[in-house]
Amino acid sequence: MSTNNIRIAVQKSGRLSDDSLKLFKECGIKFESGGSKLRSISSNFPIEFLFLRDDDIPGYVEDGVADLGVVGLNVLMEHTRKVDVVKELGFSKCRLSLAIPRGENYTDLKQFEGKSIATSYPNLTSQFLLKNGVKAEMHEISGSVEIAPSIGLAEGICDIVSTGGTLLSNGLKEVATVFQSQAVMIANATLSSEKQAILDKLLFRIDSVQRGQN
Ligand code: ATP
Ligand code: ZN
Repeated sequence: MSTNNIRIAVQKSGRLSDDSLKLFKECGIKFESGGSKLRSISSNFPIEFLFLRDDDIPGYVEDGVADLGVVGLNVLMEHTRKVDVVKELGFSKCRLSLAIPRGENYTDLKQFEGKSIATSYPNLTSQFLLKNGVKAEMHEISGSVEIAPSIGLAEGICDIVSTGGTLLSNGLKEVATVFQSQAVMIANATLSSEKQAILDKLLFRIDSVQRGQN
């Protein structure tokens, strides 16, 4: 393979990984994955895969360490990054939602005025509330957000939900949706024309795969 490979960052292991790898395999791209391997060059398409933590992907793509990346829109939008969203991939669908203890009454968003909210998404959450005229205090934590109300850390939470099962088992109820998310492909803002041509070819194949699924 030439040195003109396009480099794509995908999640090493997590809720984006399986569907990301499946997509590229369905595009007819052959590569090795799994185990402790952190990079892999395709044997039949000019692409190199980097396997990383999802949180690091937007930054690597912005800096040009990777040309492309697959990441949840939620992670991308929480921080301001100069990258292009080139494709909605339709998997890892989830939403960022506000939740409160199940026993409490919910009327409307005004209820969050002056309250403390535990979240890993303080920017998306506070922007949403401010747009609705509500000012709340963000308490940023990186994981196990659902536990916060029961240990007195916050009055509500704002977290990623897909089925709602985790909320339920932590005595919480979902009261408002802040943001709808899915996996997207992002690209560095200044790709060379050679890399843009490879990206176009890749997007063409992804379109065909997606058409086949509809
Ligand atoms: P990493 O170790 O790479 O940092 P992580 O623990 O931060 O992984 P995952 O839980 O694997 O991340 O989720 C990755 C992305 O998958 C989320 O940012 C979100 O876009 C999406 N996702 C889809 N469904 C869910 C869900 N039920 N819970 C959490 N994230 C989900
Ligand atoms: Zn992560």
